[in-house]
Amino acid sequence: MAATDQIRRFADIAAAMRLARELIGHDRWSVERLEALQRRRLQELVRHATASSPFYRERYAGLDPGDPVELSRLPAVDKATVMARFDDLVCDRRLTLAAVEAHLDGLTRDELLLGQYRAMATGGSTGRKGVFLADRAEWRQYLAGFFRWNHYVGLTPRLPRLRVASIAAARPLHMTYRMAASIDVGLHRVLRLEATTPLPAMVESLNRYRPQFLYAYGSVLGLLAAEQLDGRLRIAPTAIASSGETHTDELRDAIRAAWGTSSFEMYAMTEAGILGSHCDRHSGIHLFEDQAIVEVVDERGRPVPAGQVGHKLLVTNLITRVQPLIRYEVSDMVAMAAERCPCGRPFRLLAAVAGRNDDILYLPAAAGGTVAVHPLALRTALAGIPGLAQYKVVHDADGLHLRAALRPGAAAEETVRQVTDRLAEKLAAQGVARPAVQVELRDHLQDERDTAGKFKLVESRLRRPTTTPVP
Ligand SMILES: [Zn+2]
Repeated sequence: MAATDQIRRFADIAAAMRLARELIGHDRWSVERLEALQRRRLQELVRHATASSPFYRERYAGLDPGDPVELSRLPAVDKATVMARFDDLVCDRRLTLAAVEAHLDGLTRDELLLGQYRAMATGGSTGRKGVFLADRAEWRQYLAGFFRWNHYVGLTPRLPRLRVASIAAARPLHMTYRMAASIDVGLHRVLRLEATTPLPAMVESLNRYRPQFLYAYGSVLGLLAAEQLDGRLRIAPTAIASSGETHTDELRDAIRAAWGTSSFEMYAMTEAGILGSHCDRHSGIHLFEDQAIVEVVDERGRPVPAGQVGHKLLVTNLITRVQPLIRYEVSDMVAMAAERCPCGRPFRLLAAVAGRNDDILYLPAAAGGTVAVHPLALRTALAGIPGLAQYKVVHDADGLHLRAALRPGAAAEETVRQVTDRLAEKLAAQGVARPAVQVELRDHLQDERDTAGKFKLVESRLRRPTTTPVP
């Protein structure tokens, strides 16, 4: 059984590597050729969904299957609907949410459901958990996307094998874990650490291992950069990559100061695999538009021009057939770059991920009513405070809290005064009434990570206002 499993794993990897070479070839395509591929795959996806998913058949009832698909005219779908209508939406009638959840509960490593499906769940510190599926062929395409990303960051198999350190999710529910498990056949030497590992232990392991390639969530890199700059961490990775969280300019500066290089920022989600990555110009995140279509839209779902931060994204996954996701709403607030990357690749660039719209804080306004405070406003206010090692702003039923860990040797009183003043000033400027913040000092904030090991700088734990219906 184990041997068969290993053979299957090798076969999947070999196929994914061949697919990856095709994907890498798209780097030299023209925009027109790429758009033609997108149109063709979209057409196939919509035809398949209409034929095999009762949910989409109902939604697209007015659509003539012979007509070319106009993406902008298709209704968007959100996570709550994808989960509520799970059994109707999937295209294999044997799959039910109950069966998939039971499978997820018993997952210990990389087992397949019904011998062919990988099931994964999204974190979900806010809102409902999402459950997503890929069959073996779809998984090979996700892996191909992963190998393409490896190529972008210079992580190609070689001898002697590279020493890779990966600091990410520790549970098989998450896609990063499953990808790592799928390719764990010895292409690289890999040190795996959990994102929630206490910092001193992480530093010690890394010092001993001396990774040549370091992958971590942005917040973990921030902690490690400070350790490196203070002299406790002494590693010299030639390449660094990160994902999963907002990258502030401050974080980018710290990474460059610590290791003399920029991180390859990657943008990925369990719902759609690796959506994009920096190239070696680090001018933004190239969207892998041969595997997904990304639309930046405002609150009402209208397209937002390049250069402007939207309210959410609509992602159309061009890979999955078993669980079609067409114009799937994602709460990330991002801006598309107005210019193309000088590297000449046809893929558009995401300028930045500014945060998630579910972390907009709705606070009482001085003028009455509520005021929406963007997470970016609070991050800007707290940037550059020397004694602050890590912080998290949490809004819950008792009000606003700032949980903070200080740098070793920092003057506690002075730092607390700085953060309190800066936040109060920023909130007042935004029109917030009585902008009081309770500061709580902690040794570290590692236990503030979500189930996937990710960390939010600003988090709303209140239910979102239900009073924002839009005509
Ligand atoms: Zn580029």
